[in-house]
Amino acid sequence: MPLTANDPSRKSWLDVPQDSDFPIQNIPFGVFITKDDVVTIGTRIGNYAIDLGALQQLNYFEGIELTDDMFMQDTLNDFISDGKKTWRLVRNRIAEIFDSNNPELRDNDKHRETIIFNIEDVEMQLPVLIGDYTDFYSSREHATNVGKMFRDPENALLPNWLHIPVGYHGRSSTIVPSGIPIHRPQGQTLPPGNDTPVFGPSKLVDFELEMAFITTDANIMGEPIPIEEAEDHIFGMVLFNDWSARDIQKWEYVPLGPFLAKNFASSMSPWIVTLDALEPFRTKGPEQSPEPMDYLKQEGEHAFDINLQVALQPEDGNENVICNSNFKYMYWSMAQQLAHHTVNGCRVNSGDLMGSGTISGPTPDSFGSMLELTWGGKNPIKLNDGTERKFINDGDTVIMRGYCKNDTVRIGFGEVKSKLLPPFSRK
Ligand code: MN
Repeated sequence: MPLTANDPSRKSWLDVPQDSDFPIQNIPFGVFITKDDVVTIGTRIGNYAIDLGALQQLNYFEGIELTDDMFMQDTLNDFISDGKKTWRLVRNRIAEIFDSNNPELRDNDKHRETIIFNIEDVEMQLPVLIGDYTDFYSSREHATNVGKMFRDPENALLPNWLHIPVGYHGRSSTIVPSGIPIHRPQGQTLPPGNDTPVFGPSKLVDFELEMAFITTDANIMGEPIPIEEAEDHIFGMVLFNDWSARDIQKWEYVPLGPFLAKNFASSMSPWIVTLDALEPFRTKGPEQSPEPMDYLKQEGEHAFDINLQVALQPEDGNENVICNSNFKYMYWSMAQQLAHHTVNGCRVNSGDLMGSGTISGPTPDSFGSMLELTWGGKNPIKLNDGTERKFINDGDTVIMRGYCKNDTVRIGFGEVKSKLLPPFSRK
């Protein structure tokens, strides 16, 4: 099925500011609440939120096979379950409806009033009910940096790393959308020099610059997903801040891996940008050596050129850009991650979320965590208000942004922005 929604020459009758992340070629999917407390599935063009439930009720999706309440739901899971063909039909139709040459909705003031909202007038929700959350560890630079700091600089990568897309099962209950503040977690740590642990607020709260992909019902239990089909089961991507407590992590992670250091919060951007919209930004990933095993072998371009940025904003202060990275640095592709995840027969469902792992680039200004940017706190970052940071302070806001750009179109993700609050206290 052709991706007519991606036509770079198409213009919308809705105003799209220059350098908007959301031109008519993007058409992401999300869930929002209107001022009248109506929850609906929607999309976004420029600074307008578009109610897909209302569009459906007013018959704008006629001819596409959809259940009657497909878009009048508070999650995208059912829509995602309908599969790639339906996603494409719907995105192509939305592009047609908002094409500057199409008068149908453009010239119908009454319909426009019930379908289109200013983005400031809606509240974004989590777009999917996330059943399971897996986090990978797929940036070679990140794994090498962490290995150098925590283990042996000479053998920074563990022996399995170049053979397996390493990952662990996270927890979905504390994944929240952009804008929701996070409390500094408390827990056990072993301060340097101590031989018994102490309890208290984490002193080393960090962000992890990640992206995540959201899957459809990909297989039945027992059935591996062949690598050449894996991308068909990826609905789209979001920005993902996988908050981490480094001191808790260091004490608890042996032998079973991350636990409470990671599951207190992860923040995601609310608009899922479809893999279809990202098609023009395919690129080659890093050379893989040794050659991956057959079930992980891929031909062609399976990385995506997505510029990523992290800014830190102190309370009452200005933003400081502290990292510029790119999703294309990932050593293992999303398709390899999904093929590996299911090679043993593990079932993947609609709305599952797979984090990339921290995305660090080759240069120190492209490292995707405070742990790496300050090299374990040894080289604090100087902010524009004169203060320094080794890790994240209470009151700081972490903002992640991402976009793709070529000569004709810019497709972006908006942002994921969240503030770190002091530890939770009972009123
Ligand atoms: Mn992570």
